[in-house]
Amino acid sequence: MELKALFNLDPNVKVRTRFAPSPTGYLHVGGARTALYSWLYAKHNDGEFVLRIEDTDLERSTPEATAAILEAMEWLNLTWEHGPYFQTKRFDRYNEVIDQMIEQGLAYRCYCSKERLEELRHQQEANKEKPRYDRHCLHDHEHSPDEPHVVRFKNPQEGSVVFEDAVRGRIEISNHELDDLIIRRTDGSPTYNFCVVVDDWDMGITHVVRGEDHINNTPRQINILKALGAPIPVYAHVSMINGDDGQKLSKRHGAVSVMQYRDEGYLPEALLNYLVRLGWGHGDQEIFTLEEMIKLFELEHVSKSASAFNTEKLLWLNQHYIRELPAEYVAQHLAWQYQEQGIDTSKGPALTEIVSMLGERCKTLKEMAASSRYFFEEFDGFDEAAAKKHLKAAAVEPLEKVKEKLTALSGWDAHSAHEAIEQTAAELEVGMGKVGMPLRVAVTGAGQSPSMDVTLAGIGRERVLARIQKAIDFIKAKNA
Ligand code: GLU
Repeated sequence: MELKALFNLDPNVKVRTRFAPSPTGYLHVGGARTALYSWLYAKHNDGEFVLRIEDTDLERSTPEATAAILEAMEWLNLTWEHGPYFQTKRFDRYNEVIDQMIEQGLAYRCYCSKERLEELRHQQEANKEKPRYDRHCLHDHEHSPDEPHVVRFKNPQEGSVVFEDAVRGRIEISNHELDDLIIRRTDGSPTYNFCVVVDDWDMGITHVVRGEDHINNTPRQINILKALGAPIPVYAHVSMINGDDGQKLSKRHGAVSVMQYRDEGYLPEALLNYLVRLGWGHGDQEIFTLEEMIKLFELEHVSKSASAFNTEKLLWLNQHYIRELPAEYVAQHLAWQYQEQGIDTSKGPALTEIVSMLGERCKTLKEMAASSRYFFEEFDGFDEAAAKKHLKAAAVEPLEKVKEKLTALSGWDAHSAHEAIEQTAAELEVGMGKVGMPLRVAVTGAGQSPSMDVTLAGIGRERVLARIQKAIDFIKAKNA
């Protein structure tokens, strides 16, 4: 019964989850996965998602980090119904609650000096006791609130805190383990755990999904919520992500920042699919559309153990989504890559065509943009090995002939280009490759490209003819 009461199962209460990053750096993949799980749980239950920026640590929080986190959330398309709220804008509210708690005897002012607290700790350590505040100031009548003081929460001294973690199961912590937590510092600022409690309460959070590094905060937060008469949310502590060597994920393992994945040419769908599987599953299914994730996601199936990041699998998913998502959509992300690489795509084929031509060949959009430069820009020189192999004296005749045929075409499309190559080969009585390969190196600069017909169509007649001529001149100059 007791456990059930802690679980927020009232069908009349709308599920509300939150993501509450501290803006001390970019959004890393671990944070993104927590955000995704929290978001999915809200969507799965027709609920709402809150974004809260926990910027109370003034030394470490920066507006740049906040902007970077918002950018990453937007790129992942993890939209929020409420927020972003900023804790630094809510200090009046936190202080209001603290003052009420003092009045109601739920919290008390503590005037103990640093020296006294240190002395106390030494004594407790010497007696092999767990260091905790001895409530010296609980009934203090000597000091006035004008004197420097902190405010402490009056943590229950008996019993224990029990909660049913949606991922890890029942957790019980004895109140003897918990100290009378400082909830307001001498400088008047509320402390981190307290802000979280008031926020989760005020924002109507029904389910707290967060990293397991916060699990020690949970019993403290539950005690404060209980004292306030606030409903206790369901907690779900998600495990950590490690590198493929089992060590804590770090830069050493490759990208850790979400936006770095954008930079490297990943689609948000691929990263989301990758992250959802990293610590959650539905049978052995690997590919999940967002709709499927929303439909199937349950906190109960989130894994308790740490997961290992595997870049190969992410690449595989990325290629899958490059191929499967509508070309118009992929093209929007590809456009960003061209911009990054300084490639002007205003003259050349539509980006959707690039996606259909290169979708099978590229694992990332960065690679796709880089390897399709020749559709939009002239190149200097040919790939050395390809030129050595294919731009030889014997290639002049096929190149001249195919140029003639291409010039004479009435229309310019893949089909007619294919016929021109075929006729050239037939007339010269050589295999298609003897025409196709020199032509490929001539128009793309290298020995690899999508099939010649679509490539020629995409590059455009004017550019194709000029490049063939350039290759002929190159061969002649070399053999002169
Ligand atoms: N601000 C905390 C963090 O970034 C999260 C706290 C929470 O979710 O309760 O790790």
